[in-house]
Amino acid sequence: MQIVPARAKKAQGASLSIVPIFLLVLSVMASMALVAQRAATRQEQFELTREKHQLSQSLSFESENLLANVARDDTLGNLFQHQRNPALAEAQLVGLNTRTTLDFSALVDKTSGQVIAEAGDSDTAAQRKALIVELIESSRMRGVSQATLGIGREARIVHDGSSVLSLIAVPIGRNMVLVGTKAFTPIMLRRLSTMLSVPDLRVFKGLVLQETSYVVQPLGSQPPLSLIWTPSRKAAETLADLAFFGLIASLAVAAIAVLVFKRIRASTEAILVREAKASHEARHDPLSGLPNRAVFCELLADNIEDLPHRDSSIAVLLLDLDKFKDVNDTYGHAAGDKVIIDFGNRVRSLLRQTDVIARLGGDEFAVMQMGIHTHMETTRLAQAIIDAANRPFTMDGATMRIGVTVGISFAPDDGMDVATILRAADTALYRAKNEGRNRFALYEHRMTEAERIRKLVDDELRGAIEREELTLVYQPQVHADSGRIASVEALVRWRHPVHGLISPATFISAAEERGLIVPLGDWVMRRACRDAARWPGLRVGVNVSAIQFRQSHFPENVATIIREANLEPHRLELELTEGVLVEDADQAEAAMMELRAIGVKLALDDFGTGYSSLIYLRRFAFDKIKIDKSFLDSMEATGESAILVHSVVHLGRALGLEVTAEGVENEDQRRFLQAVGCHYLQGYLFSKPVSAEAIDEMLKAERDQSALASPDAA
Ligand code: C2E
Ligand code: CA
Ligand code: CA
Repeated sequence: MQIVPARAKKAQGASLSIVPIFLLVLSVMASMALVAQRAATRQEQFELTREKHQLSQSLSFESENLLANVARDDTLGNLFQHQRNPALAEAQLVGLNTRTTLDFSALVDKTSGQVIAEAGDSDTAAQRKALIVELIESSRMRGVSQATLGIGREARIVHDGSSVLSLIAVPIGRNMVLVGTKAFTPIMLRRLSTMLSVPDLRVFKGLVLQETSYVVQPLGSQPPLSLIWTPSRKAAETLADLAFFGLIASLAVAAIAVLVFKRIRASTEAILVREAKASHEARHDPLSGLPNRAVFCELLADNIEDLPHRDSSIAVLLLDLDKFKDVNDTYGHAAGDKVIIDFGNRVRSLLRQTDVIARLGGDEFAVMQMGIHTHMETTRLAQAIIDAANRPFTMDGATMRIGVTVGISFAPDDGMDVATILRAADTALYRAKNEGRNRFALYEHRMTEAERIRKLVDDELRGAIEREELTLVYQPQVHADSGRIASVEALVRWRHPVHGLISPATFISAAEERGLIVPLGDWVMRRACRDAARWPGLRVGVNVSAIQFRQSHFPENVATIIREANLEPHRLELELTEGVLVEDADQAEAAMMELRAIGVKLALDDFGTGYSSLIYLRRFAFDKIKIDKSFLDSMEATGESAILVHSVVHLGRALGLEVTAEGVENEDQRRFLQAVGCHYLQGYLFSKPVSAEAIDEMLKAERDQSALASPDAA
């Protein structure tokens, strides 16, 4: 089963697309174009209005100018004088026309409407005259009284059906009016056209309903006439330019965006790939490619969380290969690797899609079996796994055999969190190993306390020695007569960071079973000898386990330790139990001889609990016997024990041994033991086992007391 971390899955799913970027660029471009287009339309409208306005202003300016020139002319007075003489008046008009560039002028009687005199270009004169008469007539028609009628001083733009004209009128006296016209020639129009930037200004016969036109008022009843021009269209040009440059710019922006986007996508993809690879590596065992412990725990946690929504259980199987070390040692690490990989594959082929196998490390695997309803489903799988492991593995023609031990626990039955479930499976695995390996065991709620401790020792004692979690306490043995401290016994304690202070009564035997007693014993002896250096003259008792004692180099070891601690050998007292002597008496005897040769003292511990054959006492050269506490306990209940203790003490003394009574808890016991001749007493009555510093204090108090006592004695 491939396990892809959730984060990587997400990252792969979120495929980056170019579409949004294009849409963005497109919408920016579109809104830019819209704004530009609206600005251009506005600008164009404004331009048109301006052009029309300027044209009308310029036209009226031309006629006003004409009017001013005419009105300023000196000959107007003469005209007034010659009003009754048409010939003279006409001569005046010809001169006026030339000076003021009028193309036609007429002196008109306002009252009668009659043209008194006229002058103008021969081809236009007749038509002009007719128009002016018409004008005068229409003016006269407007009013009621002739006196109030007439043309005043004015300038107008009109047309005559074919040309645009400036029409001016200047009153001459009370009754006369000088009326003149001047047509806008094509040259004049061209001049206006350039001056006003209204290109191609021209006359159009008819009414033009377009924006670039100026409708000219008719002088009489002529058909309509307009001035038209080509719009300058500056805005449109600007817009075109803008559109062009906008397009170029947008294309450039889009191109850059695409490039940047591609770069980003490439690097993002690279990062994702790298991340996914790193995450895969961090989550999988590189050798087998199986998920590692972290992944297994994560998946287990997820599935446990999901359990309340299901009607099935989860089984956790911890697999520990048997004889895997032999494969490594015999065939090499490549063979070991091959076995790990093959075994992983074999187990995988037994699992369903939803099940998970992980390699926890070394030769340990874990299987999570999902959706099970009966334990049978799991035990069947466990047996199949064992069978798979028992089939030979081959490499380069070599055939390798291993086995596997399986510990099984269930969620929710055995717990509802990862740690509890794994611990349960581990405890079951432990039991299966103790029962002889290559088998499976189900976790039972009442796995014994001893098993728990043994497991704790298994798992942690070795580390505890290295981490210096062990300490020594010392219990004094006092002279029965004086009560002064004669020696101390070293007793080991384990300060476990979680379980607190653990008594040696619970872990010594486990340490013996697990082969950890040797390093432990070594450590104790070393530390006790070092501590003894601070108590000159005092003996230090050290408990020696049978296994430790049976080591061939034990005496040599002791010698080295004593030498290193610079301790007088007779100050070290080894406490041995009968167990030491039972198994191989000859070897034990030899070792004891060696130890005596070094100079250390030997005590027979727990005397009275074992076989207690007196033979041992005779055969083996002990210096001391320690009567077990159980004697004192039963002494209180039955008188018989008192006699026994009595005789043991006697016997000891008879053999020339020192006798210590252990577990002295009250004054009665002390008095009795003193009375029967016990040399030393040890027990809570005097002191519980205490720290080395506390022993320092006790010794100091004793010295102080004897210092006080000695002057009196003197
Ligand atoms: P032990 O050698 O017989 O040690 C005496 C035990 O009796 C100690 O228990 C001590 O605390 C306890 N004791 C002493 N006086 C009294 C008393 O007045 N009343 C009662 N009820 N108990 C008393 P501890 O320290 O728990 O040690 C238990 C056993 O563990 C020792 O029995 C010894 O066999 C073993 N042990 C302790 N330290 C070591 C060690 O460093 N190496 C080895 N191999 N065994 C050790
Ligand atoms: Ca002891
Ligand atoms: Ca003892």
